[in-house]
Amino acid sequence: MIIDGKKVAIQLRNQIKTQLAQFSDIQITLATVLVGEDPASKLYVGMKHREAHAAGIHSKHVSLQKDIDQQSLEAEIEKLASDDNVNGILVQLPLPKHINKDRVLAKIPAEKDVDGLTEVNMGRLIQGQNQLVPCTPLGVMRLIEAYNIPTCGKTAVVVGRSSLVGLPQMLLLSARGADATVTLAHSRSENLVEICQRADILVSAVGSAGMITAAHVKPGAMVFDVGVTRTADGILGDVDFTSVEKIAGGVTPMPAGTGPMTVACLLENTVKAASLQGILPI
Ligand code: NAP
Repeated sequence: MIIDGKKVAIQLRNQIKTQLAQFSDIQITLATVLVGEDPASKLYVGMKHREAHAAGIHSKHVSLQKDIDQQSLEAEIEKLASDDNVNGILVQLPLPKHINKDRVLAKIPAEKDVDGLTEVNMGRLIQGQNQLVPCTPLGVMRLIEAYNIPTCGKTAVVVGRSSLVGLPQMLLLSARGADATVTLAHSRSENLVEICQRADILVSAVGSAGMITAAHVKPGAMVFDVGVTRTADGILGDVDFTSVEKIAGGVTPMPAGTGPMTVACLLENTVKAASLQGILPI
């Protein structure tokens, strides 16, 4: 089975559009901040604006020079933070090396943190009071729901432990309600093949093309490919799709798998942020 992220993302976006159409007098706005001219980051930001527009969400973009200093960047975030017309703030990552990312993210008020990366929202996720959670792992959870994939009591393995993807993915899969038993693997994990072979649900978020092969996959397992590697031949995932699809119960393609779900969940989080701010009565 192909787990079609593109299809589910369109469904989610259309649901949001329908929901927002009931409140046509209320405008909600997502602001994106991009530092520098990285082509991939520009592409992602452009996609987020297009999708926001298609869902009936207004958007605003702040483009900054790659050599901007820490203080000036933080001041830009503070402006968006205090702007009542901005409901969600997304800082496109990665930031240039001379910038302290954590200090920038700390300037985003928790209720406008549509990427779910601030300390407050991460803390809430750990405590099980999910409000705004990181979009990519949320997207995987939405795919699991859309395809009715059982998680309760199942064994899940997440490869990659970043605060952007792997760590929140582990928390979401092991949270009450999802109830999976989760192993979090990383670059120091020994016997990765054996660890992955135990997984009913396998999520790979590394960024190493084709590293998850049929040898890693238990027959019938559900495999979610988050990793992205850009090559001259296009985008490749962590999962060696051709060999894995023969053994897995389901697998996300790359592209058109977890990527569109990340963007759709950003829209979901923007609506949720507006709701937390008391702007939307839902
Ligand atoms: P990251 O911060 O670089 O984290 C990568 C993780 O992979 C680290 O935890 C690292 O372990 C682990 N790792 C590296 N080599 C490994 C190996 N050989 N075996 C097992 N684990 C290994 O990256 P990220 O921000 O989490 O993103 C991960 C990937 O997802 C990237 O390719 C990124 O482009 C992609 N991504 C995709 C989406 C989407 O929508 N599909 C969204 C966001 C990111 P250590 O911690 O030990 O170093």
